[in-house]
Amino acid sequence: MTDSAKLIELIKNISKSIEENAQFLTDLDAAIGDSDHGINLSRGFKKVEESLPELTGKDPEAIMKKVGMVLVSTVGGASGPLYGTAFMKAGGAVKGKASLGIQDFITIMDAAIGGVQLRGKAVRGEKTMLDAMIPAQEAMKAALEAGEEPKAILDKGVAAAREGIEYTKTIIATKGRASYLGERSIGHQDPGATSFTIMLETIAGLAA
Ligand code: ADP
Ligand code: MG
Repeated sequence: MTDSAKLIELIKNISKSIEENAQFLTDLDAAIGDSDHGINLSRGFKKVEESLPELTGKDPEAIMKKVGMVLVSTVGGASGPLYGTAFMKAGGAVKGKASLGIQDFITIMDAAIGGVQLRGKAVRGEKTMLDAMIPAQEAMKAALEAGEEPKAILDKGVAAAREGIEYTKTIIATKGRASYLGERSIGHQDPGATSFTIMLETIAGLAA
């Protein structure tokens, strides 16, 4: 189970992963966007890290809502409002809970995907972060229903998200900056699908 202290630790680790991959994510965005995805996200997560001490002892809802608000207000570009909304909706979905299990994580992911879709109006197949998020969520739901352990469920999510990244290489972007490239966006993986996968890999990596 993930309590307040563990959730804060998890967010610190996500922040670290984003930081380590900032150049990689920016390079991906250089190919089909404006070279700022990694810079944007790592700047936002740095601010998130700075806000963590004041969140000590707060419940998961408050923690995730704060993360979302910091991301919305500090990350430039499309991904700030999108990830920010995802975290805020995720927080709202676990209102009143002191600790979170794998079922709660599925609930969180449903809310996060809903938040991204509410904000970005994209559907699956438009070469966005949703092309990693939605298949990951489907795989995790199937694994949960099959009675698998939390770590195995998360690992299946990661595998599906990675396949989602591969899929984004094969399709044309129809949302966001990459859509300006039309057919020339084919062959490149989506930066947002990649950053989401990095976050999920971090969560799976910490699961027992
Ligand atoms: P910007 O494109 O404004 O520079 P970023 O580079 O930070 O913002 O983020 C780009 C990523 O945002 C894309 O790779 C894509 O995954 C995601 N994205 C862009 N528009 C949308 C949308 N409408 N819905 C979901 N994700 C989107
Ligand atoms: Mg960009």
